[in-house]
Amino acid sequence: MNCLPDYGPAPRRASTPVRVGHVVIGGGAPIVVQSMTNTDTADIEGTVAQTAALARAGSEIVRVTVNTAEAAAAVPHIRERLDRMGVNVPLVGDFHFNGHRLLTQHPACAEALAKLRINPGNVGRGSKRDDQFGTMIEFACRYDKPVRIGVNWGSLDAELLVRLMDENAASAEPQEAAVITRQALVASALESARYAESVGLPRNRILLSCKVSGVQDLIAVYRDLASRCDYALHLGLTEAGMGSKGIVASTAAMAVLLQEGIGDTIRVSLTPEPGGDRTKEVVVAQEILQTMGLRSFAPMVIACPGCGRTTSTVFQVLAERIQTYLRDQMPIWRARYPGVENMNVAVMGCVVNGPGESKHANIGISLPGSGENPVAPVFVDGVKTVTLKGDDIAGEFQRLVERYVQDRYSPGASTVADTAQEPAPAAS
Ligand code: SF4
Repeated sequence: MNCLPDYGPAPRRASTPVRVGHVVIGGGAPIVVQSMTNTDTADIEGTVAQTAALARAGSEIVRVTVNTAEAAAAVPHIRERLDRMGVNVPLVGDFHFNGHRLLTQHPACAEALAKLRINPGNVGRGSKRDDQFGTMIEFACRYDKPVRIGVNWGSLDAELLVRLMDENAASAEPQEAAVITRQALVASALESARYAESVGLPRNRILLSCKVSGVQDLIAVYRDLASRCDYALHLGLTEAGMGSKGIVASTAAMAVLLQEGIGDTIRVSLTPEPGGDRTKEVVVAQEILQTMGLRSFAPMVIACPGCGRTTSTVFQVLAERIQTYLRDQMPIWRARYPGVENMNVAVMGCVVNGPGESKHANIGISLPGSGENPVAPVFVDGVKTVTLKGDDIAGEFQRLVERYVQDRYSPGASTVADTAQEPAPAAS
């Protein structure tokens, strides 16, 4: 295990870099955010639309299910449509059970994908296992594609598990079954990787994952895996669950590992609410990395929780409005305003911590709490510049934020100090 420094994450674990399309995973590259569609891949329109939405939200790689001949046949069309739309996000094909057949019958699918994900627990039994796994690896070699060997707790190689359980039972000091199961996950990934290399897949085209649904299990398994190889690692809690439970469990598990320098790419496997937005998993993954100071994706809103001193919902509405506004602008701002993703905006409920927190942000507003005058001072780069009042404080603050971004982050912009001193609309 890594020795943690006093402050901040441990140095990243050394791993072999893997190129997935134009994205590099591992080898010290920024930790990559990825996601997965939940459309029927045979539904080309639906899958293109969701993939584009995930990419626009910031997913740097998108995985699609390839489970039928129709899905495999659809993949090249999906790639082509995305390219025509200018969406160059690499696509990963998720294969189970029949991947060897689908790739044989639809080689154009392999060609269109940037990476294959193969679950070694779902590639066949007995003597067929190696043949079918080997067939998929040969396709990866033929088309120069990397492979994620993705072991999953729910579909662990049964023969391997039985073998390790038998060896454990025969040992002088048998361990608990849960320990052996965790060992089997790691062994399945490593043995499969070794086999893939023996078939001809270079080391720099192999990534590993060992996903489980328990936080402590995930931490234990990845610590073990990380200490035993230098393959790039895909991190994620499988079947994390719905809503806050899924977010908290994923964050709890991944934050510990990321802090120890473990993990080269992450996916947050949230169960969407009915009709919910699939892009939520991308936002959560980005926020895990950004709040840990590992990467920046979008300006962050610092907001106090509110309390008995907040007089109305104005404060919550403004915090929500600004957060949504900032995120919605990012597809355009990312290219237009380099560095804007590092901006902090404070939206605070009253005078207790409002001015102080706002001064620490790039731009911040301290709304009036109960008993205060109904005015909202705005701070820009630590300096109070204007005090807003009236019915449109939210709109005026949003315009100030927009102006700050233009002045501060436009290529060749001078300093924001000039702007900060300019009179703002409807200022008091
Ligand atoms: S800043 Fe004011 S409103 Fe916000 S939590 Fe603190 S005391 Fe309450």
